[in-house]
Amino acid sequence: MKLVSRSEWGAAAPTGSYTRVGSTHGVKIHYEGSAVPGGLLGDHGRCASHVRDVQRAHINDPNEDWIDIAYSFLVCSHGYVFEGRGLGRRNGANGNSSLNGAHYAVCAMVGTSGVTSPTAAMLDGLVDAIEYCRAQGGAGGEVRGHRDGYATTCPGDELYGWVQRGAPRPGGAPSEPQPSGAGAGVYIVQPGDTLGALAGRFESTVTQFVTLNGLADPDRIQVGQQLQVPGPPFPGREHFVLGAHSPHAKRLQIWLQAGGWGPPYRVGPSEDMEALDLQKVAALQQHYIGDLGPADGLTGPLTWLFAFQTAHGLRGR
Ligand SMILES: [Zn+2]
Ligand SMILES: [Zn+2]
Repeated sequence: MKLVSRSEWGAAAPTGSYTRVGSTHGVKIHYEGSAVPGGLLGDHGRCASHVRDVQRAHINDPNEDWIDIAYSFLVCSHGYVFEGRGLGRRNGANGNSSLNGAHYAVCAMVGTSGVTSPTAAMLDGLVDAIEYCRAQGGAGGEVRGHRDGYATTCPGDELYGWVQRGAPRPGGAPSEPQPSGAGAGVYIVQPGDTLGALAGRFESTVTQFVTLNGLADPDRIQVGQQLQVPGPPFPGREHFVLGAHSPHAKRLQIWLQAGGWGPPYRVGPSEDMEALDLQKVAALQQHYIGDLGPADGLTGPLTWLFAFQTAHGLRGR
């Protein structure tokens, strides 16, 4: 992510104190709505100055008692993510204080004249900002438009359509590839193995083994036979962002520990996703950097599968 910190863009100090937010349901997407100078498109050197203009306009707005730029982040046509109020602080952009506390506000630097369409780099930057809010800011999985739950045309029809399609990266490629093929790997039957014991060992059921392998008689597995091991169904990314709490988180952490990824736990595993857990995920992703997406600590279906495989000896390293 190409993050531009407040000091890097020359932010003025806020005129009051922020309200803290520990977590949100997700992110709301905005656009500036007014004129955004077309000259910004070809000249990233002007973007910081434009963000300073937005901040000044917000703080001086006679109709709002804004203490700072209203947005959590702003994203320019070149894909840079400018830190507005940033993480852990309630924004001022979503319409009222309860809406502002419920979602981070990420603004695309497009408007109704001048720069009126998001570039591919901007969409990438918006996804970077969304993922950053999830990984570091306690944001949940929702991505909404400003107009969801508030009477406004923001973020404009083009960006709102993108939000409704699930805010994909340009080209529609997910940041992490989807797993392909059936099962999590192959196990070669050893003397003394029973399907019941194997199912327990691989966190599966006998039925799943039977179905996946098309076994006619589950009592008749042979030494040396190759069995496909059922893969664990992916429960959804929202269970593995920073601050998430669920039994799925604990399951992942047990695998990460068994696989020996990242720094060891002093206490754990637990049902809470903490910074150390994301570090462990990133260590796994870094090891398989060509196969998994970015080593961003965020768990998608393939990272989930790799964690399972490495914990159960189904993938070499
Ligand atoms: Zn808006
Ligand atoms: Zn720019």
